[in-house]
Amino acid sequence: MKKIVINNSAEEYYIGKIVCVGRNYTDHIAELGNEVPEKPLLFLKPSSAVIYSGEEIIYPGFSAEMHHEVELVLLIGKDLKNADERESIEGIAGYGVGLDMTLRDIQNELKKKGHPWTMAKCFDTSAVLSDFVSSRDYKLTLGEEISLSINGNIRQKDKLSLMIFTPVQLIQYISSVMQLERGDLIFTGTPSGVGKVSKGDKLKAEIKGVAELFCTVK
Ligand code: MG
Repeated sequence: MKKIVINNSAEEYYIGKIVCVGRNYTDHIAELGNEVPEKPLLFLKPSSAVIYSGEEIIYPGFSAEMHHEVELVLLIGKDLKNADERESIEGIAGYGVGLDMTLRDIQNELKKKGHPWTMAKCFDTSAVLSDFVSSRDYKLTLGEEISLSINGNIRQKDKLSLMIFTPVQLIQYISSVMQLERGDLIFTGTPSGVGKVSKGDKLKAEIKGVAELFCTVK
């Protein structure tokens, strides 16, 4: 089982399910020509897709268009069902930055057919994680800047405040649909600027003052 490391903490978390939110930043919705959702759009990734900062993203042979999506990731610290606002706040154990690597060519084909996104989102190495900061040590304001660079060039850069649904709203909604458990992760959606990566690219993802990760595409 894969674990989460929290800075300055001896607590251990085994990764459970990974709930991902699509279309949570207006500019990103526009760049892909999608409609603004009334409720959060959810999909899942398996924990087997996780790699950590310093590891390699393996380009799958069945795609010719892999995209980067940099996202704030929430670590759930306790079991939550139909959580209210206070329980949702208290349910966040930590924050990290992650990459929701996406096979855009495959996803576009699946969307056309009305099929699930599994093939485009769940491949090995498609979920890259930083170390996490404890919510006890760090108070997230949503004023933080999230960014992604490729080979030193900034491709995505926005404030977390541009999210349509906040972390607390997401937890309230998700926990009304499915129980959240200790060790689950929530990928909260990506800002605009998504685009292709190529073999050999060096990616750096960062949420200023919170977390950063580095990885290479192979
Ligand atoms: Mg995403």
